[in-house]
Amino acid sequence: MDKRTISVFGSTGSVGKSTVKLLQHHSDSVDVEVLTAYNNAKLLAKQAIALKAKYAVIANEEKSDELKTLLKDTSIKALAGRQALLDMAAHSVDWVMMAIVGMAGLEPIFKALPNGRFVAIANKEPLVSAGALLMSRAKQYGTTILPVDSEHNAIFQVFENNNRDAIERIILTASGGPFREWTKEQIEVATPEQAVAHPNWSMGPKISIDCATLMNKGLEVIEAHYLFEMPTEKIDIVIHPQSIIHSMVQYNDGSVLAQMGAPDMSTPIVNALAYPKRMETCGQKLDIQQLANLTFSPPDFEKFPALKMAYNALNVGGNAPLVLNASNEVAVAAFLNGEISFKGIIEAVSSALEKDYKNTISTLEDILLLDQTVRSDTCAHILKTSNNFKQTG
Ligand code: NDP
Repeated sequence: MDKRTISVFGSTGSVGKSTVKLLQHHSDSVDVEVLTAYNNAKLLAKQAIALKAKYAVIANEEKSDELKTLLKDTSIKALAGRQALLDMAAHSVDWVMMAIVGMAGLEPIFKALPNGRFVAIANKEPLVSAGALLMSRAKQYGTTILPVDSEHNAIFQVFENNNRDAIERIILTASGGPFREWTKEQIEVATPEQAVAHPNWSMGPKISIDCATLMNKGLEVIEAHYLFEMPTEKIDIVIHPQSIIHSMVQYNDGSVLAQMGAPDMSTPIVNALAYPKRMETCGQKLDIQQLANLTFSPPDFEKFPALKMAYNALNVGGNAPLVLNASNEVAVAAFLNGEISFKGIIEAVSSALEKDYKNTISTLEDILLLDQTVRSDTCAHILKTSNNFKQTG
């Protein structure tokens, strides 16, 4: 691979750390320009020194002095605050990884589109909320979007764009999360500790909760719709608890092309990093001879209503995916804070989806504004229900 200049947004998170590890492994092929974090100045400084980055950006301004002190004996420029984060997203590099969690990553992605020749996106929430605008801007700038979510990276690898008419459906696999075998009643009162304990993947707290509600899979259906321009009725979900097949594309000649790999984010990350070539992973590899009992079953839409909500939001279109995402982000944070029950996440999202929000969101400003409105409304809803939760919980 030719040497690439690289930036990693959200380098201290779960995806970010895996990316940094791969960049260290391939240090001869990369020049690291920018690394960013929100709070974790210590790890950010350590990563920036190890990768000889040019800039380290801490989005939380209060951490500015800490970062500056940590980097004072180096030539790495320490920057702080939201504006510095946005400025550095516009910094010109060959390849950028977007691994910030939630809608906080939306503006950085839009800033990177004109400059990043390859924009690798792990951060699914902006794709869900602003997918149509994001993909059309990328097209306009000739920017290649590289999906990093393991399912979408799998589809990306087996999706024959020149045979798209022959594609009957794409099939997203789902592990089923930690509550796959729990009853509906047990799930409704699950604790944050139980919900973050994913059986196969080690991830940040927000996506771990989304995996427990299966909202993550719902968000992925919407993400797939925008990334691959596939209609809702051609996007299916299958429960595959072993997380070995990461997704599939079914063609009209009867072929089903699947991508397999160990449940390790290093594979989709390095696939995106090397694209359009391939390079060695320092992560886990699959031992095919050790595989036994790969199982598949349909998802349970009754036990996991988030799936139905996501499909409905996609069918309704317009701002519905944004409303789904914004209310879910707020509700997940409230659940992690002990303010609402597990069941309360679904109730908060359902209540937001029933509201009558402005349906046209054609600019980035519209999107940001509506996102804020939905967040405030969801906070108000949660405030009401959290009082009941505390009284009864
Ligand atoms: P983490 O919570 O582990 O990491 C989030 C990263 O974003 C951290 O670097 C964090 O900084 C930074 N960050 C948080 N808030 C802000 C903010 N307001 N402004 C700027 N930076 C911020 O998340 P994950 O790595 O698990 O997930 C990242 C994204 O990738 C999510 O959208 C997720 O859905 C997606 N994804 C994750 C997968 C996984 O395996 N984890 C798999 C597929 C997709 P700090 O550490 O300093 O707080």
